[in-house]
Amino acid sequence: MKKLGFGMMRLPKYNDESNRNVDMIVAANMVEQFMINGFTYFDTAFMYHSFFSEVVVKQILVEKYPRSSFTLADKMPTMFLKKAEDMPEIFSRQLMKCGVEYFDYYMMHDVNSSNYDSVVQAFDGFGFISSKKAEGQIREIGFSFHDDAVLLDRVLTDHPEVDFVQLQINYLDWEDEGVQSRKCYETAVRHGKKVIVMEPVKGGTLANVPEAAEMVFKAHDPEASVASWAIRFAASLPNVFMVLSGMSSMEQLQDNMSYMKDFKPLCDAEYETINKATAVLKGAVAIPCTTCGYCLDAGCPMDIQIPKYFTLFNTEKLLGSRGFSPQEEYYFNTAENHGKASDCIGCGNCEAACPQHLKIRELLVDVKEMFEK
Ligand code: SF4
Ligand code: SF4
Repeated sequence: MKKLGFGMMRLPKYNDESNRNVDMIVAANMVEQFMINGFTYFDTAFMYHSFFSEVVVKQILVEKYPRSSFTLADKMPTMFLKKAEDMPEIFSRQLMKCGVEYFDYYMMHDVNSSNYDSVVQAFDGFGFISSKKAEGQIREIGFSFHDDAVLLDRVLTDHPEVDFVQLQINYLDWEDEGVQSRKCYETAVRHGKKVIVMEPVKGGTLANVPEAAEMVFKAHDPEASVASWAIRFAASLPNVFMVLSGMSSMEQLQDNMSYMKDFKPLCDAEYETINKATAVLKGAVAIPCTTCGYCLDAGCPMDIQIPKYFTLFNTEKLLGSRGFSPQEEYYFNTAENHGKASDCIGCGNCEAACPQHLKIRELLVDVKEMFEK
C-alpha cells in the first residue's frame, strides 16, 4: 500500500458559507486521480465537514469503486459519547452513512487525558471496537492520539490489543515538548505498533513557510515543493505505514502524488536541510493551530471563525516581512457574517475541544489587537 492517505476533512468547497458546501465535482475528480495513480487509503470521521464527510465518502468513493479497491478509516467520536450505549448506535450510522459493511481501519477518536478515564475506559471503548473487529465489521483497530508520551504509554499498556496508533508527527513538532512527536513515535515503536501520521504539514503551516525557511529548501532542491519535505519526513519513519494529507485542491493532490507515488525516504543530506529550516521556523509560527476545526464543531455561541483567524494571524506574522499583508481585509470580510475575535464571551467551549491545547481565548485577544486596531 502506498504511504499517502486522503484525509477527507479539508475537501474543496464551492463557498465558505458552510463547512458542508463540499465541491463534489472537484472532490470526485481528486478521488479519481488518486485511485488511478494507485493510492487506496481514505480517512474520514463522524464530524468532519460538520458531519457531512462520511456522506461525501459514500457518494464519491464507495458508490463508484469496488469495495476491495480501497481502504477506509473511520473513528468513534469520543467527544460526543454520553454513555456506552451511544457507541453501537453511532457505529451503525457510520456504516450506513458511508455505505459500507466494514471499515478497514477504525479508531477511538482523539484519545487524551481529559477523556481517557472518563469516556474511553468508562464506556469500554476498546472493548466495543474489538467486538466489532471480531464480528468482521472492522479489520484493524486503533486510536488517534493528541497528548503526551506518558499517557500514550499508559494507553498502549492497558490495550495491547490495538493494531495501530494515529499520531501527530511533523518535523517542527518532532522535538516540541507540547506535542512530543518524537517521544510519542518512539513509545508506539516500543510497544510494537505501526503508526499512521496525521497533520504532517501542520494544517498547512509547513506548506507556507517564511521566505528564509523556503530559501533553505529551495537551495537544496529548487523543484521540490515546500510541503513535500514535511510529508516525506513523516513517511520516512520506519514504523509509519500511512501519512494522511487533508487535500483541498487538485494541485495539492498532484504535488503530493508526485513524490509519494514512488516514495524514497529522506537521505542524510535532506535531514540536514530540514534541521536547518526547522531552526529558521522555530519562533516564526505564532499560533500552532492545525485548522482541524474541532473548536468550531464544539459550537461557539458567537460563531467566531477561530482557525481562520489564527491562520490569518500566522500569515500576517510570517509574511509581514515581505511587505504583503491582505490578511486584515480577509479578516473583516469574514467578520461581516461571523463573530469577530473581540466578540468572544469566554465560555471556553472551544478550548475544551482543542487537541493542541491552545489558549484560544487569550490568543483571540492577540488576534483582536492585530486586526481590530
Ligand atoms: S470561548 Fe470565545 S471563541 Fe471559544 S467558544 Fe466561547 S465565545 Fe467562542
Ligand atoms: S484552535 Fe485548536 S481546535 Fe480550533 S482549529 Fe485550531 S487546533 Fe483545531
